Amino acid sequence: AASATKSVMSSGKKTPATLSSDSVINFARGDPTMYHSYWSKLGDRCTMVIPGNDLMSYFSDAGNLCWFLMPELDHAVRRLHRVVGNAVADDDRFIVVGTGSTQLFQALLYALSSPDEPEPISVVAAAPFYSSYPEETEFLRSGLYKWAGDAYSFDKDGPYIEVVTSPNNPDGAIREAVVNREGGKLVYDLAYYWPQYTPITHRADYDVMLFTFSKATGHAGSRIGWAIVKNKEVATKMVKFIELSSIGVSKESQLRAAKILGVISDDCQDSGPNKEETLFEYGQRLLSERWERLREVVERNGVFSLPKYPQDYCNFSGKYTDPSPAFAWLRSKEGLNCDNLLREHNIVTRGGTTFGVGSKYTRISMLSPDEEFNLFLERLSAIKGTGKGNC
Ligand code: PMP
Repeated sequence: AASATKSVMSSGKKTPATLSSDSVINFARGDPTMYHSYWSKLGDRCTMVIPGNDLMSYFSDAGNLCWFLMPELDHAVRRLHRVVGNAVADDDRFIVVGTGSTQLFQALLYALSSPDEPEPISVVAAAPFYSSYPEETEFLRSGLYKWAGDAYSFDKDGPYIEVVTSPNNPDGAIREAVVNREGGKLVYDLAYYWPQYTPITHRADYDVMLFTFSKATGHAGSRIGWAIVKNKEVATKMVKFIELSSIGVSKESQLRAAKILGVISDDCQDSGPNKEETLFEYGQRLLSERWERLREVVERNGVFSLPKYPQDYCNFSGKYTDPSPAFAWLRSKEGLNCDNLLREHNIVTRGGTTFGVGSKYTRISMLSPDEEFNLFLERLSAIKGTGKGNC
């Protein structure tokens, strides 16, 4: 049974054929396998054939500042942001492609720090924060930057980097910078600022913005992310970092991403009579159904609580929509260790302490295949409280 889950994690090709009643279901990772069913419906529209003699050079666009960025991806990214209206990606902004936005985050730590500073620059994010930020910042024990924890309690003078994740991973909150002091450099991680997760209320126009193919479309395995950067020096340093860490980014992946992003833009702009459901409509429909069912179960069993999200006007869809975040941030009302409690019921989640808060919280991915999500709800509804401290 556990191997059924494993086969999903490793191949990402199909939903598990059988999940037995005692199989462990893993909701700890944010693997966006939910989208598989959408792309299956599109048949061959995204299929690519790459001849053996194609894409062989290291170089993609030697004249461009980001010389390993395929012009096709550059074009597709800027077009999609124009179509969706979620970020300004005009021609005067630099696009830097990375092997996932994970690589770009590290490139930014390098680009926004300086060897001339007397001590490493502090890196902060408001808790609860995405658990990879502290890990990636601390991993190499760099002399250039260091993790300084929760932005809410950061009070050190001097330069700092604040990562603002909006909507936030893990709790789905819409966020702004919290430190707001001189010498601050802001990185906006907008991995989830897409219409299936949240109403698009404005065109983001920050100095540095990160996006990822993984969460926009579900193609996490292609490992493509992009940064939109205003400052040329920052972009140049990021390119240098990627040059040294991987001499660029897979061209096959870039072309596949360009093709798929192009198909999404085409579909969003299609106003014909046979218009199909777009990726964003599909994602929004599925996620809001899941959120509704999850809220029903949580309300019925009374053991947990979930954050509430205000409805807002979405400029992209032209209507008021409810946010439907990619993760559920579950809190035990009785103050119990939420992750342990769910593990007892064969549900693996990621506990609050990895996100810089207490263990009464845990994070659950909402992007799993249907069968796993259904089993999760079934198990969740069977959990009973102890009756102590229930309020
Ligand atoms: N930022 C956030 C907020 C994320 O949730 C994730 C993926 N979990 C990433 C960055 C990394 O994405 P990628 O797959 O592009 O490395």
